[in-house]
Amino acid sequence: MNGGGGKQRRIQQALFMNGHTSNILESMVGVGDMVLLDPLTEEACINNLKRRFYAEDIYTYIGQVVVSVNPYKKVPLFSPSTIQTYRGRNLYELPPHIYAIADDAYRSMRDRNRDQCVIITGESGAGKTEASKIVMQYVAAVCGKGEEVDRVKEQLLQSNPVLEAFGNAKTLRNDNSSRFGKYMDIEFDFKGDPIGGVITNYLLEKSRVVRQTEGERNFHIFYQLLQGAPQSLLNKLRLSSTCEKYGYLNQSHCVAVDTIDDAAHFQVTENAMRVIGFTETEITQVFEVVAAVLKLGNTEFESFISFNGTEACNLTNEHTIEEVCKMIQCDPEQLKQALTNRTMDICITGLAERVVSTLSSGQAVYARDALCKAMYSRLFSWLVGRINDSIKVRSRGKKKVMGVLDIYGFEVFEKDNNFEQFVINYCNEKLQQIFIELTLKEEQDEYVQEGIEWTHIDYFNNSIICQLIEKKNTGILAILDEECLIGGNASDQSFLNKLNEVCIRHEHYESRKKKSCRSDKTLPYDCFRLRHYAGSVTYSVQGFLDKNNDLLFRGLSQTMFGCDHQLVKKLFPDGNPRRQTKKRPPTAGTQFKNSVAELMKNLLAKNPNYIRCIKPNDVKSPNMFDDSVVRHQVRYLGLMENVRVRRAGYAYRQPYDQCLQRYKMLCPTTWPNWRGHPKEGLQTLLTHLRVKPAEYAKGRTKLFIRNPRTLFDLEERRRD
Ligand code: ATP
Ligand code: MG
Repeated sequence: MNGGGGKQRRIQQALFMNGHTSNILESMVGVGDMVLLDPLTEEACINNLKRRFYAEDIYTYIGQVVVSVNPYKKVPLFSPSTIQTYRGRNLYELPPHIYAIADDAYRSMRDRNRDQCVIITGESGAGKTEASKIVMQYVAAVCGKGEEVDRVKEQLLQSNPVLEAFGNAKTLRNDNSSRFGKYMDIEFDFKGDPIGGVITNYLLEKSRVVRQTEGERNFHIFYQLLQGAPQSLLNKLRLSSTCEKYGYLNQSHCVAVDTIDDAAHFQVTENAMRVIGFTETEITQVFEVVAAVLKLGNTEFESFISFNGTEACNLTNEHTIEEVCKMIQCDPEQLKQALTNRTMDICITGLAERVVSTLSSGQAVYARDALCKAMYSRLFSWLVGRINDSIKVRSRGKKKVMGVLDIYGFEVFEKDNNFEQFVINYCNEKLQQIFIELTLKEEQDEYVQEGIEWTHIDYFNNSIICQLIEKKNTGILAILDEECLIGGNASDQSFLNKLNEVCIRHEHYESRKKKSCRSDKTLPYDCFRLRHYAGSVTYSVQGFLDKNNDLLFRGLSQTMFGCDHQLVKKLFPDGNPRRQTKKRPPTAGTQFKNSVAELMKNLLAKNPNYIRCIKPNDVKSPNMFDDSVVRHQVRYLGLMENVRVRRAGYAYRQPYDQCLQRYKMLCPTTWPNWRGHPKEGLQTLLTHLRVKPAEYAKGRTKLFIRNPRTLFDLEERRRD
């Protein structure tokens, strides 16, 4: 505890007590709102989080923003009775909590008709998904009751286990890591009762279906199915319960995980699907697709030289493919053909000619993996669509909305930052932009509403980085698309060369070609570096073109469309020969850019609430607060800027009547009862206490205090 710790603690408690007592308060240490930090330094901020973490006070405010530190253990902060404690109370009445923010957002939506969104950010393992569930549970607990409302609530809540089974996986950083971004609008009627919702998913990490880093796993559902499905289902799907037998599950040498009970989770997933309204046929079909992916992953190929001297290959385990084909009702010959050959329409002297070329075994493995990735990621999108069908609002009346965004945080690996990290970090740049815009805008709005003069606050506006990435024609994504369109000679390297030409002067772009970076050995030749708002990231261009193109050989999509299996057919509408167009589908980068733009529009139309999640250490330990790990996150989440913005204007504000009530004892004229307007009473009080006029401003309904010290002083005098 620093010198003023005791004082701060008392003030802190007083600030939150406001006449209420709560047993949670007893353990409270440090400051509950970082705006009150004194001195305001990064060290003080980290120390404050640390002390609170060890005391199991995992939530801390920066004004209205909740900073949440992952406790990595059960903490006694969540219970139906705590929910009741927070219900209908003002933010500062009780210790910081997600419940308080959720309550504030919910009431503001219900009573003041302001659509809300809760934006949850932080790196992998920081606790975003858990936080999003806490928000949803709170809202479900405080909104209305009744048979229909309960059914909707249950469906909304049960969407989580389904999406987690299919979209989460064990990674080195998190045993339950979301490998997709998720935004969920929960919709309410005029009374504030939930009537449905809409889920939007972003960019599933589909490469995981076919490849996982050592020590990581594939998506949970594969293990759940093999460990948890009844033998009769496994027989029907012709699956073995031994995960090690499958190429897509055995390469990373990680199957069983201490913290995960796959068999039990299978029951949870299946039950959740039923609650949502999946039919038994649909559930079976979903598992058939999952089984088909697993089994396809075991198909192998053997190269040979064909009669015309080109490389070709044969399937070595035909039996497997026949089993797959039986399950997905596909013509085995056609699938074998599609996996080992490529058909292209080539324009020769103005006439389109169909050319069939054989694939080497390596190319066939590539085609097989591409098919499995497509099958699985399309299945995932279909699941989201199917859930949406069930939770869709059917009534017409006006809706109120609360959105919850749980999306991948800024990501930087020591090496091998790739296309995925590039788009994830781009998304975070956009989120940071609206964070800055909205935090400032909200402050500004309040000053305007209250008639208080507003001085502009300088902050780093990262729109310059967003432009570098998304600008039409000359942005990185546009250059990438252009390179993908060229085809033929285009390569990752030619893409990099073009980037280096076009972006070299940009202050956030670094290349080996740049004077200042020429001798920089940390920047390899096949990389470029971006100076993101959260720090520099070196991206390897390897695979950028391929991932952006995201093409599936046409023969494969046609074969899948040709299946009699209802679900598989639905997943490959692009394989319909009658629907074939010459127009190529938008690239992965462009699709992502468009969906992020849509998301931003959606968020900007709502009142934002922020939860910034922090991971206390890299080893998932409940007993370790690693300063350097936290410092890094405090920096890139821009928490210090956040506190500064909050303090640059007026650190504290309180309605006149509440404020007078609290401090009237400090002045004989206002004590015990002030009969005039509270605003005048406060003026009398402040003059009596000789608080300098520059230290405060009087708005229409609230008193604004510039410096937290002034507040400390007032609190201190109250105690004396
Ligand atoms: P990712 O980006 O990888 O999806 P995330 O930020 O969503 O990560 P979570 O999955 O929410 O992280 O949390 C990781 C783990 O940390 C959880 O599985 C749980 O064990 C623990 N955890 C997170 N929040 C809490 C909490 N409030 N109480 C107890 N444990 C928690
Ligand atoms: Mg998550």
